[in-house]
Amino acid sequence: MRGNNHFDVIIIGGSYAGLAAAMSLGRALRKVLIIDSGKPCNRQTPHSHNFLTRDGNTPAEIAAIGKEQVLKYDTVQFYTGLATSGVKTEAGFEVCTDKGDTFSAVKLIFATGIADEQPAIPGFAECWGISVIHCPYCHGYEVKKEKTGILANGDMAFDLVN
Ligand SMILES: Cc1cc2nc3c(=O)[nH]c(=O)nc-3n(C[C@H](O)[C@H](O)[C@H](O)COP(=O)(O)OP(=O)(O)OC[C@H]3O[C@@H](n4cnc5c(N)ncnc54)[C@H](O)[C@@H]3O)c2cc1C
Repeated sequence: MRGNNHFDVIIIGGSYAGLAAAMSLGRALRKVLIIDSGKPCNRQTPHSHNFLTRDGNTPAEIAAIGKEQVLKYDTVQFYTGLATSGVKTEAGFEVCTDKGDTFSAVKLIFATGIADEQPAIPGFAECWGISVIHCPYCHGYEVKKEKTGILANGDMAFDLVN
């Protein structure tokens, strides 16, 4: 960490969304802190697809390129850790981490992504993003012409089969 613990903006979550927000803010000369626990939703998938210029890269490679570009701006700092609590203060917000650090900022951005709720099927979690795929546009091409089972809870899934 450089400097003191007060920022214009704290971004919780330093994957693609958090890094993108940090780039815009950093370039606008806002003093930004990204707090990231390093567990993006796609971390288990071997290759990302359907993203122009990065088709076939691993999720970690894409994030590393993003992080390198964002951290070239000296207005942006990156903290590895989990934000465990946050409170509203008169001047903005105060955020505490699992390492016992406290940071304050005028604005707070949540870029924490989503948590995929998985069914309690043995082996499902281990195969998530590998042979159990969530999106035909991201990973369907790689399994074309293979036998496919559909696990669905709505009509939209059947639509995607086509
Ligand atoms: C299995 C799988 C495969 C995918 N494949 C593709 C693909 O091939 N192509 C494609 O375009 N899209 C793909 N996606 C979608 C893509 O991964 C998401 O759209 C993207 O990751 C969303 O980015 P995000 O920054 O919003 O969230 P995430 O990438 O999930 O990142 C959220 C970040 O916030 C951090 N975080 C959460 N809570 C805290 C906290 N309290 N304190 C600190 N940090 C915190 C997490 O550690 C994580 O780093 C895939 C998704 C999944 C699940």
